[in-house]
Amino acid sequence: MDNIFQKNEILTNLESLNREIKNCKKCRLSATRSNAICGEGNINSRLFLIAQAPGETEDRMGRMFLGPTGKIIDELFGAARINRNDIYMTNLIKCMLPGYRKPLPDETEICGKYLDEEIRIIKPDILVPLGNLAARYVFRRYHGINNLSEAGIGRLFYSNGLKIYPLRHPSSLLYNPQIKADMIKQYTKMAVFQKECKWYPVCPMKYFFEQGKLDKKWIELYCKGDWLNCVRYQMEENFQYHPDNMLPDGSIDKRL
Ligand code: SF4
Repeated sequence: MDNIFQKNEILTNLESLNREIKNCKKCRLSATRSNAICGEGNINSRLFLIAQAPGETEDRMGRMFLGPTGKIIDELFGAARINRNDIYMTNLIKCMLPGYRKPLPDETEICGKYLDEEIRIIKPDILVPLGNLAARYVFRRYHGINNLSEAGIGRLFYSNGLKIYPLRHPSSLLYNPQIKADMIKQYTKMAVFQKECKWYPVCPMKYFFEQGKLDKKWIELYCKGDWLNCVRYQMEENFQYHPDNMLPDGSIDKRL
């Protein structure tokens, strides 16, 4: 009953936010757009994808990820066995940028507030910014850092109760097809994030965390995040002995 009530509340709040977005005239982009594009997809998804801004086809048709970029994202999702209806997707800037220019600081500031509101309403588990501009906004706003290095792409971060998994924007493949294999690998990881580790209910890490002995970051980054990369998980799957006080990165915590 509670869940239905919560879901209805989310949908009502989202509808009212989307009405505001569709009629928004807070910045100059409203003069050149045909449609302001709202987020779409599954509000119960753990994944919340954030692209930069709609392109010409999206602006004309009023939906996210259509045209050439839509084709690429569908291909990446196909390789990752992710159904686009199972996840939630939105843009940092809700209106098309004329000539595909970069958003100006005031446009990012004004429109970013809609994104913040969407995040506040939906309360996703993992933010997935696609491309530099979305990543820069998300990391500055939710992780307190201004610059994300290349090494951070395809890595899971956790702070302030939110996980961030920055990825390249699908349109990068239009200009740089040689990075395709790498991108498929990073997009495929999102399928892992959609559920928690199957060993979690019986794992000593859960016990230590519930006893207040283990930092939550271990649970979020591994057990409810990238469990495929957990050394404990890998050893469990290979029937290899591992002590209870071995952390997911394979190090031993003698205090446990
Ligand atoms: S510590 Fe590793 S094996 Fe244990 S629940 Fe977390 S991810 Fe799974």
